[in-house]
Amino acid sequence: MEQFEDFVQAEKLRGVRYDVRGPIAEEAARLERAGHRITKLNIGNMAPFGFEAPDSILVDMIKNLPTAQGYSESQGIYSARTAVAQYYQSRGMREADVSDVILGNGVSELISMVLQAMLNPGDEVLIPSPDYPLWTGVTTLAGGRAVHYICDESNSWWPDPEAVEAQVTDRTKALVIINPNNPTGAVYPREILEDIVDICRRHNLILLADEIYEKITYDDAETINCCNVVRETGDDVFTITFSGLSKTWRVAGFRSGWIFISGPKHRAKNYLEGLNLMSNLRMCPNVPAQHAIQTALGGYQSIEEFIYPGGRLYEQRAVAYRLLSEIEGVRVEQMDGAMYLFPRLDPEIYPIENDESFVIELLRQQKILVSHGRAFNWIDNQHFRLVTLPTVEDLEEAIAGIADFLSEYRDA
Ligand code: PLP
Repeated sequence: MEQFEDFVQAEKLRGVRYDVRGPIAEEAARLERAGHRITKLNIGNMAPFGFEAPDSILVDMIKNLPTAQGYSESQGIYSARTAVAQYYQSRGMREADVSDVILGNGVSELISMVLQAMLNPGDEVLIPSPDYPLWTGVTTLAGGRAVHYICDESNSWWPDPEAVEAQVTDRTKALVIINPNNPTGAVYPREILEDIVDICRRHNLILLADEIYEKITYDDAETINCCNVVRETGDDVFTITFSGLSKTWRVAGFRSGWIFISGPKHRAKNYLEGLNLMSNLRMCPNVPAQHAIQTALGGYQSIEEFIYPGGRLYEQRAVAYRLLSEIEGVRVEQMDGAMYLFPRLDPEIYPIENDESFVIELLRQQKILVSHGRAFNWIDNQHFRLVTLPTVEDLEEAIAGIADFLSEYRDA
């Protein structure tokens, strides 16, 4: 018999990582198969925690099922794209038009399409650290180079615009801003956004604004849309805004998101042709889920029940913050948005060499699954991320388990 070589993965996958679903999730699956119940604090998946979608979205989608059996236009169905355009109009983007909107199978697919259409080998993209790691993974897959700008834990996890600008080179093509941020929960003030927009303006960068947590903010915090900042300060930065139904409307499983394109589009004609090609190549997004968009954006905004005092997300965030802060050697910033905390473990007390092994050990001992900081392209081994989605009782139990694990670590 002739000997063939084994089948191996493409070289372009070298350096592409998405560790939030990597070895830690595999170990959790193994433990589950062995009969253990795992408390999963690792993924921002709302429905399994009882945050279900408003009925109106489901009813509308079900009603439309019979007519949603065929492909749609590549960019998405007209009614949903119009609803997205109207949404941005209502936020001050008066010229927003249906032609500025492309729908996708979640923001994830759109991140991929946007970067694949944009990057040549060696092109650089400025991405926050810590980040939502898909941005880094897809930049690498598309042949680009992720250049991370550090968000400052000692300053509410905001980036320092001067330091960001110092990282711009003649290869930098785009700058990513995630606001509110995953994993830190930071919500950026207008001054920071204006400075970031200015950097894009001065260096001719495309601004990529991931605002999927836009409506999940607490107390006085409010998301200022980057596209508005651009519009109010000269409308001269080509901007792509990303959002969708996975978080605010809790239907992550439907895979439904959009991009809204604004700024000097006349300077991006060729790029937009490429983006349309990417759109055509994937045929169209899931059609039944596109029908949910109009009702979601135009209907009752039920997320508000959760984010005000007395609401589940609000109260769970407060409890998780308080309990984590009480553990010796744990420092945590209260987040203004999203649904994550990103605590720091004092290296004097917890000298962690490998944070992935650390969270795997926590998982094995306490059956609690969190994500390690490095999975978010963070620079040290001293952080982990947990979601604030479980009920107060479940959070209390889980954080007590984390505290026990840390106490044993200290005594070891
Ligand atoms: N962007 C950020 C910042 C996220 O946290 C997530 C998911 O957690 C996504 C994008 C992906 O969202 P989608 O479900 O729309 O693909």
